[in-house]
Amino acid sequence: MERLQKVMAHAGVDSRRKCEQLILDGRVKVNGQVVRELGVKVGNNDRIEVDEVPIYKEEPRYILLNKPRAVISAVSDDKNRRVVLDLIEGVSERIYPVGRLDYDTTGLIILTNDGEFANLLMHPKHQIDKIYVAKVKGILNQNALNKLERGVIIDGKKTSKAKAKVISSNPNNQTSIVELTIHEGWNHQVKKMFESVGHPVMKLKRERFAFLDIRGLEVSQWRDLTAFEVDKLF
Ligand code: URA
Repeated sequence: MERLQKVMAHAGVDSRRKCEQLILDGRVKVNGQVVRELGVKVGNNDRIEVDEVPIYKEEPRYILLNKPRAVISAVSDDKNRRVVLDLIEGVSERIYPVGRLDYDTTGLIILTNDGEFANLLMHPKHQIDKIYVAKVKGILNQNALNKLERGVIIDGKKTSKAKAKVISSNPNNQTSIVELTIHEGWNHQVKKMFESVGHPVMKLKRERFAFLDIRGLEVSQWRDLTAFEVDKLF
């Protein structure tokens, strides 16, 4: 038996906190009865509904995908473009991407059906390292690297401390390959950060997320996270 809000969060309804609110708001039924208290425990045979819609108690699933370019980080697209779920065959659980990579960004993205896990990974207080490798225009000087590391203002907010390292520079075509480690996951953050120091991004790849990386996965390939990896992230 497990607490109702935990089972709901695991089924991907929402975070545990928001599930508690759904219960308090009287929107949750167990075996046809509205439950308004937070202490209720449920078992495998209990039927749970939110706003009259049954939730499915799926096994939690945690997937790591090496996303190619020209794919949307969403479960569906109204313009019928390819989405990350199209790349993951043979998975019946209702997984969705945790955060987003831009259409033209490649690399590591996690998908899950565990709402609590997704919320935890996305929450800014956890300060998870996200490591990107960008090909940018121009040759970065120390001043630009310092600015990136100290934090730059994008959309009126200052980014937290980052790490920036030039991997290589090509004076012939005036481009650089730079590794940038950030902690937030704001919209187009890496592109905006490089733009703000005068080095627009030409190509972007997410190489690592916390201790996870995409080594061993070809572009478009995916694998389940191991139980050890999931535990370490939780
Ligand atoms: N930052 C970006 O600008 N794009 C991404 O896809 C991810 C981070």
